[in-house]
Amino acid sequence: MRKEKFYLTTTLPYVNAEPHIGHALEFVQADAIVRYQKNKLGKENVFFNVGTDEHGLKIYQKAKEEGVSIQDFIDKYAQRFKDYCKLFFVEYDNFYRTSSEEHSIAAQKFWNACAEKGDIYKKKYGGLYCVGCERFLTEKELVDGKCPDHGTVPEYKEEENYFFRLSKYREPLLKWLDSNKGIIKPATCYDELRKIISEIEDISISRVKENLPWGIDVPDDPTQVFYVWFDALTNYVNVVGYSTDEDRLKEWWPAVQLFGPDNLRFQGAIWQGMLESAGLPHTKMLLRHGMVLGEDGRKMSKSLGNVVSPFVQEEKYGGEVVRFYLLAGISTFADSSYKESDLVNMYNARLANNYGNLLNRVIHLANAKEVEINNESTVETSFKERVDSYKKTITDLYDAYELSSACEQIDALADYGNKYITEKEPWSKDKTLEECGEILNNLSYLLKTVTELYSPIIPVSADKARNALEKREKIILFPTLDK
Ligand SMILES: [Zn+2]
Repeated sequence: MRKEKFYLTTTLPYVNAEPHIGHALEFVQADAIVRYQKNKLGKENVFFNVGTDEHGLKIYQKAKEEGVSIQDFIDKYAQRFKDYCKLFFVEYDNFYRTSSEEHSIAAQKFWNACAEKGDIYKKKYGGLYCVGCERFLTEKELVDGKCPDHGTVPEYKEEENYFFRLSKYREPLLKWLDSNKGIIKPATCYDELRKIISEIEDISISRVKENLPWGIDVPDDPTQVFYVWFDALTNYVNVVGYSTDEDRLKEWWPAVQLFGPDNLRFQGAIWQGMLESAGLPHTKMLLRHGMVLGEDGRKMSKSLGNVVSPFVQEEKYGGEVVRFYLLAGISTFADSSYKESDLVNMYNARLANNYGNLLNRVIHLANAKEVEINNESTVETSFKERVDSYKKTITDLYDAYELSSACEQIDALADYGNKYITEKEPWSKDKTLEECGEILNNLSYLLKTVTELYSPIIPVSADKARNALEKREKIILFPTLDK
C-alpha cells in the first residue's frame, strides 16, 4: 500500500516590506504541524513549502524608489524571509520564488490549461484602480470614496485585459463546499466562504505590459502580463510537479493550505475555481489562522503605535520562546492579542515551573538515590495508561491542527506529573529504594512523552531535554524570566 503523504504550504508573502509578526505566526504554525507529521509519518512522506511572491506593481515601484534593480530588490527580501524562518526554527523543505524561470513556464502552462477549457477571454474594462491593492475596486468597497485598506483615492483606469470565467464555477464550488463541510478551519469560516463563493464574478487576470513591465508574459500575447496573484497561486501545484512530473503531482497534491485572515477569498474561492478549470483536485484542507492583534486588542498599525516587532521580541527572549508563545499563547484560529506580560507568565508557568522543574527534580533525585529510570517496560500499568490517554488526546488535537489546545493539554500532562511527585514524595525517608525507583521511572516515562509532544512546538529545547533525560544530566533548560 502506498504510504500516506502529507503536503503543507503557507501563502507566499509579498516581498515589498520587512516580515512582520503575522508572518512569524503563519510560519511557526506551519512548521509545528509539519514537525508533528514528520514524527508521525516519517520525514520522506511530508513536504513543507514556503516562499515569496515576487511580481507586481508594488515591487516594481518599491525597487524604483530604493534606486536598485528589481532583481537585487527581490533577492534582498527573499533572503530576509529565509533568515526570518531561521530565527524561529522554521525548517521548510522548499523555498519557492515566483521570479524563477521554472515558475514562469509552469504558470503559463496553467494559463493554457484554463484557456483550453474556454475559461479565459479578453474584455475592455474600466474602473477604479487602487495601486496599493493592485486591483480594481468596486463602488461598494470604497469608504468615503477611498480604498478602505490604503486610504487613498483610486484612479479611474481603462484597460483591455484577459478575464477568468470564475462565475462558471460558482455552482460547482458551492456544491464542492456543501459536500465537504469539514474542509475549512475554523468552522466559523464556512458561512463566510459560502457567501464569498455565491457572489463570485469573472475576474481580470492580466495587465497591459506597458503599465506593468514586471510580470510573466501571457502566452501568445506579449502585450499583456499575468496579474500577480494569478501567477503566484499556481506555485502550490507547480512545486510538486505540475506540468513537469505527473506522477509527483499525483503523489503530493492536494495540499493542506495555511493562510491568514485576508486570504480567504483567494485561497477558498478563486484558487479553487482555478484548480477546477485546470482539471486538478481541490485543496485538501483550508486552514485560516487568526490575526495577531496589538496589546490593546486592536489591529496593529503604525498610527496606533501598537506594532510588535518580531525582531525586537526575538532579541529580547530568543526565537524559541517567541515561537512557544505564538503557538501556545496566541489562539490558533481566532484573533488574539500579543501581550509580553502573557508571554513571560506563560513561559514561566508552563516551561520553567512546570515541565522544566519536573525534569530537574526527576533527574536530580534519580542521581541522588542512584535508581534506574528510562525503563519503559517496568512503568506501572495504571500510570502508563493515564499518560497514554493524555497522549491520545494531544495527538488528536495535533491531527486536527489545534495547536494552542494541544499545548494546553501537554501542560496539563506535565502538571499531572508534578502533582504525582508531590503526592508520592519519592524523596521521603519512608520510601524504600525500590518504591522510589518505581515512582521516578514512572515519571521518566511521563517526561519522555511530554518531551516528544512538545518537540513540534519547542524543537531545540525538546532535543536538549531528551538528551538530558537519557544521560541523566542536570540541566536548567528554562531559566525563569523576570516580570
Ligand atoms: Zn487599496
